[in-house]
Amino acid sequence: MQSTVTPTHCPYCALQCGMNLTPAPDGTVEVSERTDFPVNRGALCGKGRTSAAVLASNVRLTSPLVRDEGGTLVPASWDEALERIAAGLGRTRAEHGPDAVGVFGGGGLTNEKAYTLGKFARVVLGTSQIDYNGRFCMSSAAAAGIKAFGLDRGLPFPLEDIPKSGCVILVGSNLAETMPPSLRFFTELKENGGTLIVIDPRRTKTAEQADLHLAPRPGTDLALALGLLHLVIAEGRVDEGYVGERTAGWEDARAAAMAHWPEYVERITGVSVPQLRETVRLFCEPESAMVLTARGPEQQSKGTDTVGAWINLCLATGRAGRPLSGYGCLTGQGNGQGGREHGQKADQLPGYRKLDDPAARAHVAEVWGVDPDSLPGPGRSAYELLDALGTDIRSLLLMASNPVVSAPRAAHIEERIRSLDFLAVCDVVLSETASLADVVLPVTQWAEETGTTTNLEGRVLLRRRAITPPEGIRSDLEVLHELAARLGVEKGFPTDPEEVFEELRRASAGGAADYSGITYRRLAEENGVFWPCPAAVEAAGDPAGETPAAHPGTPRLFLDRFATPDGRARFVPVSHRAIAEEPDDEYPVLLTTGRVVAQYQSGAQTRRVAELNAAAPGPFVELHPRLAARLGAAEGDPVAVVSRRGRAVAPARITNAIRPDTVFMPFHWPGEGRANTLTNPALDPTSRMPEFKACAVRLEAVER
Ligand code: SF4
Repeated sequence: MQSTVTPTHCPYCALQCGMNLTPAPDGTVEVSERTDFPVNRGALCGKGRTSAAVLASNVRLTSPLVRDEGGTLVPASWDEALERIAAGLGRTRAEHGPDAVGVFGGGGLTNEKAYTLGKFARVVLGTSQIDYNGRFCMSSAAAAGIKAFGLDRGLPFPLEDIPKSGCVILVGSNLAETMPPSLRFFTELKENGGTLIVIDPRRTKTAEQADLHLAPRPGTDLALALGLLHLVIAEGRVDEGYVGERTAGWEDARAAAMAHWPEYVERITGVSVPQLRETVRLFCEPESAMVLTARGPEQQSKGTDTVGAWINLCLATGRAGRPLSGYGCLTGQGNGQGGREHGQKADQLPGYRKLDDPAARAHVAEVWGVDPDSLPGPGRSAYELLDALGTDIRSLLLMASNPVVSAPRAAHIEERIRSLDFLAVCDVVLSETASLADVVLPVTQWAEETGTTTNLEGRVLLRRRAITPPEGIRSDLEVLHELAARLGVEKGFPTDPEEVFEELRRASAGGAADYSGITYRRLAEENGVFWPCPAAVEAAGDPAGETPAAHPGTPRLFLDRFATPDGRARFVPVSHRAIAEEPDDEYPVLLTTGRVVAQYQSGAQTRRVAELNAAAPGPFVELHPRLAARLGAAEGDPVAVVSRRGRAVAPARITNAIRPDTVFMPFHWPGEGRANTLTNPALDPTSRMPEFKACAVRLEAVER
């Protein structure tokens, strides 16, 4: 084991906080403050502080597992496990064709792994059926950003710009719980005289920090944004010069907004007209302002339009592509951003290229050394892929994801997974999904391997290997290398992350997410580099792109022009529509889902950490005292929440911090309290994002 301090980054959320790792003589690893990384300046949340516990956890997988004839998972050699996977995937491909083999990735995979997984699916398996759980995270914001700006990058500016802005509207984000170190940017905003407006159906810890908190009915953010734009127009606050010079499509968007009278919007959202007017005043009066969205407005069956409406508000008021102003998405997963830039999304190739673009296919095919015509076309989105398991898709290779807990309509998805002919899972622990597999491969964790991630600012970062992995464990890159060879592709799947990154640079060159000017050495020296970062013209003769004239990276996007063909941002005309499943007599209450500070996503890792479990031991149903009284439920009583898709039971947590027509459940747990048993997989027509944030339920009292 190495004994030096290794500066690296947290394995969990998209903030990618900097941390130092120091191996101790007893085999444990100490996580300590790293103050030189500007995103968190040493601060870590409980998840980051305890992240090393999973490295030494006694529930960690240390040997491949295969299912024996009696149906039990038993330890096996690597050779046997890899042979079984190659045979399982190969048999399906031979009998049913390449698209009968699916691949499902994760937003936690490094750029190198995401890139290699996408290449493996298309080159080795020849399947179009690949997507990843990042589709559930921010794809609506990505789709809206591409429509409006011609480019999707979570934040178009560094987090350090936030405190200098005049006003920030935070829509559907509880970052005090999801990424606590980021809260200081908003505290500093207020200290500097700026205003924080939080929009959330719950009075969250984040909302408590706000100067103004609006609590709309879940699923009505689209109407809310349209009502604000209506008032901007009616009060003469449109920045006509900016709209004329830097945008297109204003008239249609204007007409759509004018149909959303404040009183009409008040009836839809529950937000009063005076609150709407106050929001417009606070947003429009300062010289600069921002809108930041997160999963609240995005995880809806109209998420793309909802984000589009918030972008329209920014464009009409001249708050995009200007200093300290703009629209941004607070990406959630550790590498959700990089994961979709480099090819594990159903419709994308590396460099954020489109799979249906002939020029993009030709460029990437050349880097991969294959015929462009051999590359499959776009495949199904994440939920649609999972829904097709056991029918069109007979075998699945799954990495770094736990859809049995995290997918919407989870009981149905669990049933689909159980109906597969063959399932192989790579993970660090026996997650709920891994426990259903025919073969499970134990893989390295973040501190045991080197790789890059791209945080929510579009800052590409180097995570360094700090310790040697336990014996018997291999990296995902080694797994893909071995499987490719067993499936007949001997070359093109290196196991060295830097070698993969060098190929990724070439594959991304000239694409929207151009990494060609980024090297491991630069990442180590510069504390991260913002994409796009093309290899500079002056450095063209230098394969490492490291001459003094190398491109500096792009911390701030759109200041001169947007990434559209004519450089103008596009207004998108959108109108309010209801959520896919409105409450009715049978299911009269709205359910919304989300996160708690001590758990991460499906909890596969954080539920294995004693300190985090002590802080957040299980699910709960948050409900208003009036709803609790109607149900006859006291604090801690078990409450059943029933939707058209199933039933979940969890203790009541009674609070005035939630609307009386809404209940909230966190989604980190499996079993009886699994919130995603209830959620609605209704998809956004553009982003294919499921509607996690709002569905109709009824509550039932349960005997203790
Ligand atoms: Fe890790 Fe996110 Fe917590 Fe930072 S905020 S320590 S990146 S989980």
